[in-house]
Amino acid sequence: MTPYDDSSPRPQAGLIDGFGRPVSYLRVSVTDRCDLRCVYCMSEHMSFLPKAQVLSLEELDRIASAFVGLGVRKLRITGGEPLVRKGVMGLIASLGRHLTSGALDEITLTTNGTRLAEFAAPLAKAGVRRINVSLDTLKPDLFRRLTRGGDLARVLAGIDAAQAAGLKVKINAVALAHDNAAELPEMVRWAHGRGLDMTLIETMPMGEVEADRTDQYLSLTRLRAELESFWSLTDLPLTTGGPARYVEVAETGGRLGFITPLSHNFCEACNRVRLTCIGTLHTCLGREDAADLRAVIRAGAADEALADAIRAAVEAKPKGHDFQIGRQQPPAVARHMSTTGG
Ligand code: SAM
Ligand code: SF4
Repeated sequence: MTPYDDSSPRPQAGLIDGFGRPVSYLRVSVTDRCDLRCVYCMSEHMSFLPKAQVLSLEELDRIASAFVGLGVRKLRITGGEPLVRKGVMGLIASLGRHLTSGALDEITLTTNGTRLAEFAAPLAKAGVRRINVSLDTLKPDLFRRLTRGGDLARVLAGIDAAQAAGLKVKINAVALAHDNAAELPEMVRWAHGRGLDMTLIETMPMGEVEADRTDQYLSLTRLRAELESFWSLTDLPLTTGGPARYVEVAETGGRLGFITPLSHNFCEACNRVRLTCIGTLHTCLGREDAADLRAVIRAGAADEALADAIRAAVEAKPKGHDFQIGRQQPPAVARHMSTTGG
């Protein structure tokens, strides 16, 4: 049998990890800084990375484009808060060339929404079609407490601006046992009433924060059972290759996602890797394994050497994470979500 005759398996294009999973999705954290300090994400007095360690916009573009060249079809720009990075719109607009060429299907963004009023229209112009806005409560006082000082009205104005610019918005809310659990059905109704999808996220043990995560943890399996006591939820076949599973809520007519890295995990279908703003490639959110792509490019590597470094890191992607939440349990990984990019 010749290697390429019709009866032989064809070589697969694109990035494939050591367990045969195609890697088609890159999340790019453009900064570890943020204008909020959400209690589950950051400590009150965070120390941020020295600027010299952070990749320039050109370096971020080069690495992200190398992934696109290797077959990645979807980029998500995240942080920290991506919209506080100076010049971020230039980066997004520049990466938009891969949409125009057809090499990329989608560029999306995850944001806290505080600067969306200013950025919604330029994002739409750059080719962004969908964004995720993180919002855990519709109560201004609770929002201020959970974000340590944030202004809910700004985020709501940002969501209005995004919808007016034609962006499809999904609301992401972290489920917090004591703070917003009782409000979540109300939030789902609000989101679906505005034509927004919504996803609920379990807290993940990443980085030291002041709050006790065991105390905050709310199993979405339990929450789902509670929602089913008054709503009809129908499972949807939709999957994005990540840990989210979606249902349709008959009573609201909207779509609701559950991200359950703790009570379930879906590592076997994981299609994503994450690049931090210092050029570290994490091939699993819940493990410490990492490849230093900044060292590769700052050593003057040619494009082929960068591609080799990316292929080698993807090849070594771990089979799965080992998040657990328990008392006296240290965080599964020492880095904060704001460093890796959620
Ligand atoms: N600043 C942007 C935002 O808030 O959307 C993007 C970065 S933020 C780190 C991305 C997502 O991670 C947010 O939806 C946030 O709620 C979530 N997140 C942060 N820390 C988390 C944790 N420990 N467990 C679960 N989700 C977390
Ligand atoms: Fe900032 Fe997003 Fe973390 Fe909140 S979740 S502190 S908005 S990076």
